[in-house]
Amino acid sequence: MLNKNNDITLSDVADIPSDVKVQMQKSGVHVVIGNQLPLLDEHWDLIVRNPAIKFTSPLMQKMIELNLRVENEMEVAYHFLPKNVKIIGVTGSNGKTTTTTIIYELLKRLGVSVVLGGNIGTPLSFLEVSENDYLLLEISDHQLLDFCDFKTDVSVLTNLSPTHLDYHGTYEHYMNAKKNIFRFHTHEDIAILNNKDKDSMMITTDIESCKVYFNDEKNYFDETGIYIENKLVVSLKDILLKGQHNYENILAALLVVKTIAWDEGVIRDFLKNFGGVEHRLEFVRQVNDVLYYNDSKATNPVATITALKTFSSPIHLILGGEERGQDFNELNPYMKYVTCIYAIGSVTNRVVEYAKSQNIECVECHRLAKALEVIPSKVHPNDVVLLSTASASQDQYARFEDRGCEFKNFVAKL
Ligand code: ADP
Repeated sequence: MLNKNNDITLSDVADIPSDVKVQMQKSGVHVVIGNQLPLLDEHWDLIVRNPAIKFTSPLMQKMIELNLRVENEMEVAYHFLPKNVKIIGVTGSNGKTTTTTIIYELLKRLGVSVVLGGNIGTPLSFLEVSENDYLLLEISDHQLLDFCDFKTDVSVLTNLSPTHLDYHGTYEHYMNAKKNIFRFHTHEDIAILNNKDKDSMMITTDIESCKVYFNDEKNYFDETGIYIENKLVVSLKDILLKGQHNYENILAALLVVKTIAWDEGVIRDFLKNFGGVEHRLEFVRQVNDVLYYNDSKATNPVATITALKTFSSPIHLILGGEERGQDFNELNPYMKYVTCIYAIGSVTNRVVEYAKSQNIECVECHRLAKALEVIPSKVHPNDVVLLSTASASQDQYARFEDRGCEFKNFVAKL
């Protein structure tokens, strides 16, 4: 943007590293640190909003009042893309990363030139995209919120449920942000939608896109396999990934892939070996007929329920983490296969109480390392060991990824 002789100001409420500041200033960028409200007036042509600025914040409200053009990083970068790039966008409340990853891996194996980024990995501004590439983007509601003319060629909405309400204020506001992924579609663009998800169906009744559904009578899964256009593509027994939610992610991904390239041999081979995205019900290893799964991304009870619904053999559940008032009772209907709970994190005492209330054996561990020490002496062949904590990790780890890696490192040494 600087190359185009724009006058640019970078502003943050908190201070930024001095080397970055100096570098910015040397490039001709004004740097303003501190209260941003007084900065706002009619003279700005474009505000590039950091997604951390809430829609309900006074700053955002003032930008709306002043009728300023507000875009986010993704939209700004969109305007600099080469011509003829086809864009695939994936959004939804759950399953974005898994669906996006499956699409990416399959397209690569099918010989398609595809670049991956957005809310996963590298931001769009830093991606090197060439003419005629497929650009695959995971897009969050924060990014969709203020799209002004960002258009995809194929968009997926995996599902909708009330999340991020602290950010959006209402569920309607959140759903409308998600709907923006179809906003500039014409009948030549494709919307891939979940026929079983009432809210997704409700908000997309009036979109212009050509609609393709999964979980309908043509594109579905049952106990035998995954079907696209009523044709068996792969048997469930040949898919390493587990869980109905993941079969839905596979369906959505296959429908995207089908619009670009198709080879059932390649698809089957991939699904046989794909153990999932790291930390999302990721199959780690089988040791002495015991299966170990890392679901460290399950930072709330809803995510842990999804994992619990996947198994029908005895489960050793590592539960707990940061105290955030999470309600473990939400897990009750799904605990029937859990034979032992290992309580960890600052919420350990509450997990112990919870296990007692459910009459489930519990080991008070406080730390994951302790749980991992105890578990090998407790498990039997055909059991599942599941790290799915229904809790955030920040009491003991910087990120949930660190918790998952500790688990995997231990399992690797068994
Ligand atoms: P996202 O990128 O939307 O956060 P992920 O693919 O990273 O989604 O999965 C995160 C968690 O969401 C998973 O561990 C699982 O508990 C849950 N999940 C994934 N896919 C689905 C789905 N299709 N429906 C419901 N829950 C899902």
